[in-house]
Amino acid sequence: MNNPESSIPANPEAERILRETFGYQSFRGRQAEIVAAVAAGNDAFVLMPTGGGKSLCYQIPALLRPGLAVVVSPLIALMADQVTALRQLGVAAAVLNSSLSAEDQAAIERDMQAGSLDLVYIAPERLMQPRTLSLLGECELALFAIDEAHCVSQWGHDFRPEYMQLSGLAEGFPNIPRIALTATADPRTREEIRQRLSLQRAAGFVHSFDRPNIRYRVAERGNAKQQLLRFLRDEHPDQAGIVYCLSRRKTDDIAAWLREQGIDALAYHAGLDREQRTTHQARFQRGEAVVMVATVAFGMGIDKPDVRFVVHLDLPASIEAYYQETGRGGRDGEPADAWMLYGLQDVVQRRRMIEEGDAPEARKRVERHKLDAMLSYCELTSCRRQHLLAYFGENRDHACGNCDTCLNPPQTWDATDTARKALSAVYRTGQRFGTGYVIDHLQGQADERAERQGHTRLSTFGVGDDLGVKEWRAVLRQLVALGYLTMDIDGYGGLRLGDNCRALLKGETRLQLRQLRTEDRPARRAAGSAAEDLDAADRRLWDRLRDLRKRLSEAQEVPPYVIFHDRTLLAMVTHKPTTEQALLAIDGVGQKKLESYGGDFLAEMIEGLAEVAD
Ligand code: ADP
Ligand code: ZN
Repeated sequence: MNNPESSIPANPEAERILRETFGYQSFRGRQAEIVAAVAAGNDAFVLMPTGGGKSLCYQIPALLRPGLAVVVSPLIALMADQVTALRQLGVAAAVLNSSLSAEDQAAIERDMQAGSLDLVYIAPERLMQPRTLSLLGECELALFAIDEAHCVSQWGHDFRPEYMQLSGLAEGFPNIPRIALTATADPRTREEIRQRLSLQRAAGFVHSFDRPNIRYRVAERGNAKQQLLRFLRDEHPDQAGIVYCLSRRKTDDIAAWLREQGIDALAYHAGLDREQRTTHQARFQRGEAVVMVATVAFGMGIDKPDVRFVVHLDLPASIEAYYQETGRGGRDGEPADAWMLYGLQDVVQRRRMIEEGDAPEARKRVERHKLDAMLSYCELTSCRRQHLLAYFGENRDHACGNCDTCLNPPQTWDATDTARKALSAVYRTGQRFGTGYVIDHLQGQADERAERQGHTRLSTFGVGDDLGVKEWRAVLRQLVALGYLTMDIDGYGGLRLGDNCRALLKGETRLQLRQLRTEDRPARRAAGSAAEDLDAADRRLWDRLRDLRKRLSEAQEVPPYVIFHDRTLLAMVTHKPTTEQALLAIDGVGQKKLESYGGDFLAEMIEGLAEVAD
């Protein structure tokens, strides 16, 4: 990939819009190239991770080109949020969908025809109706943007049949540029998108999938509730985030328990009625410190930039799922934590879900591979980010410095002999007992069953009394995750020798395992908000500005970040602008926001500074 900054001529008009309308000083990554290509009337295919900044890639060309830009997006809530944010910037944007009254729809259609709108957001099924198509035929069109373009792929993870019809756009509007955008990385999905949307010849723009501000951490599960509570209280007090659980019941249970502990937690899963889901989602989107305890039903279409943590209390099914879910943290570029608890039970549970599911065998094979990849990720002793990026085809030669294994390198130990004791114990007791029994056996704890089976007389009985129960559990979990042992999924979790075990038993390989760690806290301060680094005076200023933002957002019934992002407030605290000119120089303050809020924020700033001077 060549250096984008040097290879394209600057487009002063695009940069002016970036600065004045959006309030940003410079384009990120390949945004400038993409904007230039689409503004010049070319098609484009954009791959960027969540939070990478896809929206600007079509919003700026929409303003540069004459006519109306049509944006296709699968979710009504997402469209509404984007339009709210655009209107705050003074951009003429609207949503056209069935949630509007007939009069409102008619008004928007009139605006479209009159050419007074810059952008209109439409759901795909609506767009392809003959009525809408003929309406568009009467409008001057700037471009089509197809967001979440992976929805057109049957191989992808979120296929939506209504997206299939979008293939008709190429024929129906051959001279209008089309830009398709997605955060889905895998090559097969990419190919399918290009094909179905007739974008084979479109320029492709692949952005790095790295999310440097997300700190990846995996901790061994002990008392999960207490671990979670400590994480929330110590590292993320008064911040918003998501806690993913596998089942609806667990989701309800954890949310209720957190509320008892005084944490503002809400549950979200497909079993709640629609109204409840909508209220909970709205509170999360607007509130400043809601902890959303949710199944994976929650997430698509959540466009909240200031999610400070994403917790997994259960193992995700695949690295793709994990990456997408954790990617919902830190979209504003500020530090965010991806924190997962992991234990032996996850392995059993996930394996059982695959085996008991009714997918055809070929699909199950894929799922097993994906699970194995996820397990190796959990057991890594090297940089997690490097591993994740390599999984998506991006090779890095440096460790990242911002994951748990980088910050606090796990100690490994030569576990060859210990592992052999465990494997022999499993083998000699007949490959049908679960971890509890095997650990008792290794430690020489006999119950009546062991006596009856004659297991107390085996040579492996009591050979492992040098390790405690916790240590043994960690050893067995790693042996299962690494394929030296397999676990029956019949409900009893009986252990059996796995395919890998022979070389180890025969002494042909040695095995390094992670040392058990009770503390998972990285040595350096956790990824909280950068505001934690402020001194007392700046902290007061920060609180003032946040209060002001809260009042403004409540008065206008928009989420606080629609007024200004945390990052922008933080820059104000750091630079302390007291004139309009200085305020405009802050990233995130454009012309329109200066007009709407500049006076309020400058007044608050001046008052705050005076208070400090007193
Ligand atoms: P995506 O759709 O790719 O997930 P968004 O378009 O929502 O990402 O952008 C993510 C965040 O980054 C938004 O808060 C956006 O305002 C911000 N952003 C995008 N481009 C820039 C830029 N050039 N400079 C500063 N912030 C940007
Ligand atoms: Zn790392």
